[in-house]
Amino acid sequence: MIIEEIQCKTLLQKCGFGFAEYSINPYEGCRFGCVYCYVKALRHYRKQENPAEWGGFARAKINAAAVLQKEMKRIAADARIAIGTATDPWQPLEKRYRITRAILEVLWYYTNPVSITSRSPLMIRDIPLMKEFVNLRVNLSLPVLDDRVRKIFEPNAPSISSRLKALEALQQAGIPFRIFWCPLLPGVVDNEATVRAYLHQVSHLGVESLVCEPMRHLEVLGSEYAQRMARYRSTGLDREPRLNRAEFLALIHGVAADYGLTVYVPGG
Ligand code: SF4
Repeated sequence: MIIEEIQCKTLLQKCGFGFAEYSINPYEGCRFGCVYCYVKALRHYRKQENPAEWGGFARAKINAAAVLQKEMKRIAADARIAIGTATDPWQPLEKRYRITRAILEVLWYYTNPVSITSRSPLMIRDIPLMKEFVNLRVNLSLPVLDDRVRKIFEPNAPSISSRLKALEALQQAGIPFRIFWCPLLPGVVDNEATVRAYLHQVSHLGVESLVCEPMRHLEVLGSEYAQRMARYRSTGLDREPRLNRAEFLALIHGVAADYGLTVYVPGG
């Protein structure tokens, strides 16, 4: 793992997401290195590095909080800020650098809506601070609920049980959150048994809303994904038959409605 400290010139990035006007990424690169990560594909298109390098480096923006302090004075008070759109803000490096923590300490002084996306239980450390925010939501990434499957597609990411502990801690603290069932792994979750089992389980965890997004950029990510799929099939966990996209999304909406879950599918 290559770790570097860098000075960023800017931290707030204007973004075209429907859910935020600005994004913040405390790190460049991500230790978790998920096989399906769309950032890996985007960086490949921008010729930043070879997809095989993703997960092998992380650059800590050590002046992030100081830069943000200046930038926050220039943006609208209602501009929405999304933290962790291209990295996991609570990845292991954060224990040492506390950059995400310092960013939250800056944002605490403002009323801007903040969302943070992560799959790391290190978020528990910052719950007392997050509780003090007037408008903050955590997006907890949970593409699968079976650790055997997790180890195939995101072997360096936190265990499912540790994420569920984070979920429980968010609930106990009263911090708004939703589940990111993203990406919807093709060949893994697009079958009726898995959809029913997943939504049943999350509804019993007290979850109220989910975001589901199909996996993208298979033209870049497809070959490594196919290798992992071969391993997945060899485990016997494979549940055929697959549903087509329309059937799959209709099933998600139907089962979610049965459980009283709100589902948002961007573009779906
Ligand atoms: S945790 Fe998120 S940013 Fe990091 S590799 Fe996985 S999908 Fe990509």
